[in-house]
Amino acid sequence: MNAPATLMQVRPDDGHGRAEDLTPLELIRKLVSFDTTSRESNLALIEWVRAYLGNYGIASALTFDDDRRKANLFATIPAQDGNATTGGIVLSGHTDVVPVDGQPWDSNPFEVVQQGDRLIGRGVTDMKSFLAVGLSFVPEFVRRGLRKPVHFALSYDEEVGCIGVRRLISDVLAKGLSPLGCIVGEPTGMQLVVAHKGKKAWRCRVRGFEAHSSLTPNGVNAVQIACEIVAWIARRAREFRDAGRKDDAYDVPFTTVHVGTIHGGTALNIVPRDCAFDFEIRHLPFDDPDAFFAEVKTYAESFLPAMHAVASGTHIEFDLLSTLPGFDTHEGSEITALGCACNGTHAFGKVSFGTEASLFHNASLPTVICGPGHIAQAHQPNEWVALDQIARCENFMRRLSDQICAS
Ligand SMILES: [Zn+2]
Repeated sequence: MNAPATLMQVRPDDGHGRAEDLTPLELIRKLVSFDTTSRESNLALIEWVRAYLGNYGIASALTFDDDRRKANLFATIPAQDGNATTGGIVLSGHTDVVPVDGQPWDSNPFEVVQQGDRLIGRGVTDMKSFLAVGLSFVPEFVRRGLRKPVHFALSYDEEVGCIGVRRLISDVLAKGLSPLGCIVGEPTGMQLVVAHKGKKAWRCRVRGFEAHSSLTPNGVNAVQIACEIVAWIARRAREFRDAGRKDDAYDVPFTTVHVGTIHGGTALNIVPRDCAFDFEIRHLPFDDPDAFFAEVKTYAESFLPAMHAVASGTHIEFDLLSTLPGFDTHEGSEITALGCACNGTHAFGKVSFGTEASLFHNASLPTVICGPGHIAQAHQPNEWVALDQIARCENFMRRLSDQICAS
């Protein structure tokens, strides 16, 4: 696809100073033009950002995945006094996007279209606009000079389990950096978010015993046993909703559990041998995901004696699929105060979706989330972000710039 004629290309090696500064809109168009669906390489985008930063004399460190098909980028704009390690902030975001396969898009997802007061394209909300606005302030940071360093942290494979950022964080720690905190630009409608729920997901595999469906007592019906466990999980979900502890600062103020997929059986006239389903918990900090899992497991195991009485090879097994801790940055923390100052309001909230923020937080990097666009538009066909959100993000960065620049 061709970039619009108005989009200037950064010339990384023209040897004659920097290219003309790119506007946030131009940067959004550029970043979206790279198809960084999680299964694809993100190296073209990473190399482009590296060249862009290089134009302003900023070096980037890349860390690769095992196949060297994907990379994280970490770049530091040192303070005027040369300090590149102490204090300052990290602006962080993931470079990958979710697939567009099977989604009814009205335009090329990798070419930003402006429609009224909206920009449409894969990643405009989740979460290339934040990265673009942040990068558009690099010239200003450099020209005004910084009192404390600013770091850019761009990760790969967030959408498939926050994989890249784990490597990035260990590299940051190995460098001995101690930033004041980190701002993760996931879409929050530019609301400052200081906490999100944790998440843990499992697969349950029920192995029954096949029989002709006219002889059901001779078989062990894996589908029906799985459904009993699913129904138990659904009941537990209602208990969390109706009787669990709540935190009204969250958009969904209670812990949620849910079954997302189920597969089982082969034909109606066969008592099914196998059934598997995936389930997850998105928990508030005071609810223990492992305690929930132990309850599920205990309930599932109550079926085993009857199963074994029919066929000895039957079983119920569980695989842990993913785990993401929650986080809660305290109200009084410096990064929360800075976030409030940049947003021009003391309001902040908590959200139910997981992000890389909790991994930074757990690595002793105080973190907040604040980015343009809304999570409801993320992962959708015709993903869009309102221009007003981009403007608010620019205001945020401008205030940040005033807070951290020397002049
Ligand atoms: Zn995201």
